[in-house]
Amino acid sequence: MGSDLYESISKICTEEEIKIGKVTALGAVTQAAVAYYDQKKKVYKPITFKKHLEILNCSGNVSLKDGKPFVHMHATFADGRGNVFGGHLTSGTLVFACELTIEELEGRALDRKPDEITGLNLWDKTSVLV
Ligand code: ZN
Repeated sequence: MGSDLYESISKICTEEEIKIGKVTALGAVTQAAVAYYDQKKKVYKPITFKKHLEILNCSGNVSLKDGKPFVHMHATFADGRGNVFGGHLTSGTLVFACELTIEELEGRALDRKPDEITGLNLWDKTSVLV
């Protein structure tokens, strides 16, 4: 309880040296922090929901960025009325309770590189085997 969801997942993946994998999480948070990517301005707009929420779905992947494990997660949260919020998970989501699964995969590592068209760090087609 009280740990930062994104930072905790990133720490586990770094410590376990996971180069490619799938991540899911269910549970509840005391506040949620996500971002929305503005496709015209090519910047992330941070959004914080300062209330108790259920994690309806939180899924993502692990790949490499600058040779290190990098976690990319999206999440949907629901409040006490069933209203749903969500976005690109960032630091600042504080866990009340969480069931987390991380599946390490074998095969070609996916390496993120800056993409000029989208402004995002996307998977490079020339990624290497691990
Ligand atoms: Zn995203």
